[in-house]
Amino acid sequence: MILQDKVALVTGGTSGIGRATAIAFGAAGAKVVFCDRPNVEGEETAALIRETGVECLFVKADVSSESDVQALVQKAISTYGRLDCAFNNAGIDLAVKPLHEQSIEDFDKIMSINARGLFLCMKYEIQQMLTQGAGAIVNNSSTNGLVALPGISPYVASKHAVMGLTRSAALDYAKQGIRINAVNPGPISTDMVDRILEPLGITVDSFASTVPMGRVGQAEEIAQAVIFLCSDAASYITGQPLAILL
Ligand code: NAD
Repeated sequence: MILQDKVALVTGGTSGIGRATAIAFGAAGAKVVFCDRPNVEGEETAALIRETGVECLFVKADVSSESDVQALVQKAISTYGRLDCAFNNAGIDLAVKPLHEQSIEDFDKIMSINARGLFLCMKYEIQQMLTQGAGAIVNNSSTNGLVALPGISPYVASKHAVMGLTRSAALDYAKQGIRINAVNPGPISTDMVDRILEPLGITVDSFASTVPMGRVGQAEEIAQAVIFLCSDAASYITGQPLAILL
């Protein structure tokens, strides 16, 4: 229970890595606030979190909307009184094709959620953490925030933007008790990987052969890295990418 009595926020918390991390925050003792897009329901995930014996709250919020993000952070504070940890995870992928075939609309959409949305979340989370003089934020980038892959240039750009925001903000608040790190997952078994691989005719198993361990990761394995980075065990770590698995 290394996050006993802490309050943790997860964006995009109803599926994949976000859901696994919301459940892991609960298992680590934290009260959990999680959000997802307004057309997504959160009750199934909430029930899984409550099974761990902790309180949780689901809020419908689109991270690309400033008013939604402001209301989300405000709801966390008005419900539980503070905000100790945040996992900015909400993100989208897009169709695989070379840059000149990518549409401007798709570029703007992915940047508005993966980069601008994450910026908005950090902006309002940090405002609260400054009043407390403490906090830990983990941003979900990707191995594509560290190295490129062909065919998904807007996604790669958005995940490099996450690294820029992480590193720069970590320096902004290093003396004020707020640590900001990133996780950089390789291929993890979620709906997103299925959506990317299926149109390419690539199976998860064949993709796994490109990874040193010879298997794709599980969402729970990213969740445990997030819990570590949010805990006091990582008290001297800030501004860092944690690549899992390059
Ligand atoms: P996923 O599609 O299962 O989860 C993404 C979640 O974000 C969904 O619940 C979705 O509804 C939510 N979301 C999307 N847009 C949103 C918005 N505007 N506002 C609020 N919520 C929104 O996929 P996942 O694999 O769990 O992805 C989670 C994060 O991990 C993403 O940022 C993704 O880029 C990153 N990532 C995934 C992998 C992987 O292999 N699966 C690898 C590296 C990084």
